[in-house]
This record gives sequence, C-alpha cells and structure tokens, in this order.
Amino acid sequence: MAQIKAMRGTQDLLPANSHEWKFAEDLLMNIAASFGYKELRTPVFESTELFARGVGDTTDVVQKEMYTFEDKGGRSITLRPEGTAGAVRAAIEHSLLNEALPVKLSYLTSCYRYEKPQAGRLREFHQFGVECLGTASPAADAQLILFAAHIFDAFGLEGITLELNSIGCPKCRATYHAALKAYFAAHTDTLCPTCKDRLEKNPMRILDCKNPECKEIAKDAPVILDYLCEECSEHFEKVKAYLDITGVPFKVNPRIVRGLDYYTKTVFEFVSNEIGAQGTVLGGGRYDGLIEELGGKQVPALGFAMGIERLMLVLKAQNYAFPAAPTPDIFLCSIGENAFKAALTISDELCADGFAAEVDILGRSVKAQMKYANKIGAKYTAVIGDDDIEKGVLNLKNMETGESIECAFEQFVETFENEYIAYIEQHALSNTLDVGEEYDG
Ligand code: ATP
Ligand code: MG
Repeated sequence: MAQIKAMRGTQDLLPANSHEWKFAEDLLMNIAASFGYKELRTPVFESTELFARGVGDTTDVVQKEMYTFEDKGGRSITLRPEGTAGAVRAAIEHSLLNEALPVKLSYLTSCYRYEKPQAGRLREFHQFGVECLGTASPAADAQLILFAAHIFDAFGLEGITLELNSIGCPKCRATYHAALKAYFAAHTDTLCPTCKDRLEKNPMRILDCKNPECKEIAKDAPVILDYLCEECSEHFEKVKAYLDITGVPFKVNPRIVRGLDYYTKTVFEFVSNEIGAQGTVLGGGRYDGLIEELGGKQVPALGFAMGIERLMLVLKAQNYAFPAAPTPDIFLCSIGENAFKAALTISDELCADGFAAEVDILGRSVKAQMKYANKIGAKYTAVIGDDDIEKGVLNLKNMETGESIECAFEQFVETFENEYIAYIEQHALSNTLDVGEEYDG
C-alpha cells in the first residue's frame, strides 16, 4: 500500500526537537506574562466573514491564501490565517473590553495559509502573538515594540533589525491613495491582474504584492510618510522619541505596509538576514479601526505576531544552546514476574510524586534493560530480582558516577527521593533553569 505522507507545507515536530520548541514557547509566554499579558485560546476555525472583514478582502491572505471550505451544515468556514481577528472577536463576544483597560492578551497558535512552501514559509505554521486592546497612546506603541525587542534579547539573539513605519489613518490615506492611484495608473499594463483590481479598491495593497514586476514598479511609488496627517505625524514622532529614550535601535522603512488591512499608524517588523528571503521574524502594529469593524466599540488597539518556525531558524543559525531533552530520573530494571510487579508499583509511586520513572515493558533481559536505560539517559537505575525482594534490599545506582547505594526495599522510594534531591542540588540547576535564571536577572 502506498505510504501516506504529511501534506505539502506542513511539518511534524518530532520528539528529538519538541523540547526545543517547548522551551522557546515557555520563554515567550513567560515574557508575555511579565509584561502583563494573559493567555487567550480561540478556535482554529472561524466564520470566513471574520477574516474577510478583519484581514481585508483585498489582501493576499484573503484573496489567495485562506483555507476556506463549506462544512456539512453549509457554513463557510476558514482555518485561521492569523491570530488577531479571532482574538478581537473573542474580546468583543465576551465583553472583555468592558473590564479594566488595556486588555492584554497573548497566544500561541497554529495558522493556515495556502502559500508556496519554502524555507520559513509553510502552509501550517505557528505564531506567538500578543494584542493590547484599549489604548491610543503612542506610549503603548513604544512599550509594545520594547516588549518585542526584549524577546530577542532574552534569547540572546543578535543582528535582528527593527524596521518602523507609520501607515497613517483613513484620513491621511485618502490623499495618499489618490497619489498612489495616479502613480500606478501610468503602469497598469505591467501590474498583475490582482493589482489591477487593487488599483481601484485599495492601491496600498499593491505595495505588498509579491509579484516581481509589481514589486519593481512599487519601488518608486510615493511613500505614506509624506502624506501623514498632523495627528498621525505627531503620534509617529512620539513613538520614535520614546524608542530613542529606551535605546532600542530602529530604522524607519517607509516601504513597510504589512500584509493585513487592519493596520493604522505604527507598523513594525523585526528582520533577520540569516534565514533567507523570509526574513521577517516578527511583525505588528496598531489597528485602531479593527474592533469597530468587527462589530465592537470604537476601541484603539495594537499587537504583534512572531513566526515560531522563523524564530527557530534564527536560533539554529546562531547556534542557540537549547537545554538538553529531559531524561528519565530512574529506570527500574526487573528480572522475573514478581520483580516486575514490584518495579511497576515503585515506578507508579514515583510518578505520582512527580518523578520521571520508567520500567521495562518489553520483557527484555536485564542486560538489554540496562543498555536501554543508558541509551535513554536515565539518571538512576535499580535492578530488582525476585531474590532482592526476598532479601528486602535493593541497589540504587547513580548512572553518572557509577556509585551504588544499598537500601531497604521498603524504604526504596524515600531513599531514591532523598538521593535525587541531593543529586539536583549538586548539579545546582538544570540547563533549563540556567537560561530562565539569566533571563530573570
Ligand atoms: P510575509 O511577508 O513573510 O508573508 P506576513 O506579513 O504575511 O509575512 P504576518 O501576517 O504579519 O506575516 O504574520 C506574522 C509573522 O508570522 C511573520 O512575520 C512570519 O514570521 C510568520 N509567518 C507569516 N506567514 C508565514 C508562513 N506562511 N510560514 C511561516 N511563518 C509565517
Ligand atoms: Mg504573507
């Protein structure tokens, strides 16, 4: 029978690497918590209308990339292509905005976009995202950017540049759109069919087109910074001034427009030049109109999302020292049926106490069991034979030092637990804690 393979653009996360992801995700969520963000989980599918309205129906995401289908009840459903629309929907639906503002939300989610798979671009990918709802102040923009910069610092990453822009508000966009239309009108023959359509509906979207010809033309298009209204201009100046004070280096890039329609005023990207063409690791900005657009009150907001796959690529490129995969605390080898029953009871008790304890479930020889215990990196082993049970003593072996201690069978669990505590104290802290500690400091 033909072998079934994973779908194009999807990836399995295997046990050999999952601890690295878990480590990165935990660090991200811990940083979010320290900035006062609380976790939100929303469904993987939503009504298609949410994204058509939220992300914008002239964006690449909505026009080309969504996984949309009809369910058996005839509803149009879409797998979430990004996290913000769902987060905002949930905030409105559960009246979170009636509570103390700002509402600060964080999430780790899978996202789905029908794109051409390549390094750093998948069809199922993962985002760490945060949303800060209920503030119009430029202080919030600056603090959000600081938060993002802090993430790269916490991972000890270097060479990530922050690119900043303002794409204004609907007021300044009106004049800007007119300027863009006039510019692109002279190039309609070379624009891709989608962009020809965008020229009328939303000319700013042409600036985000991935088509090489459109990109080439877009290079010389007017830039939004020249068209900002007074309010947007002041807002942008304040954000930059706050960033100057905090010493976060940034580069103004007037070409950043972002791929989602909901952005207003501040937009930013953190870019790496070490992971190929898909270098934007984190992107975000302000979206003052989105909550109202999705049926809520007129509440200003902002947020960012980071691609976890791209973060992992940067971490690998910079040889990040991930903590080692966790290993069992103890492997209980057994010889014979009674010994196995005893091993099972002991391991069950240890697991209940929070230790990682394993037993042989293949009925292997004791030699093979020891070999396996060694292979999986068990910190301790004990060999239980029927005669050990009769004699009432067991040997607990520290696999690192090779030393053994003898203890009464009845006291085995207690002895192991005391030994183990002494062992971790000796090792001060595991690798995981080392990194966490550095970060706390
Ligand atoms: P790009 O310009 O690379 O297509 P985008 O503007 O579409 O990115 P956003 O919608 O802002 O990206 O998503 C935020 C982050 O999610 C991106 O900066 C990136 O790290 C990650 N991301 C987006 N699309 C993908 C994808 N198809 N595969 C992997 N990561 C992705
Ligand atoms: Mg994209």
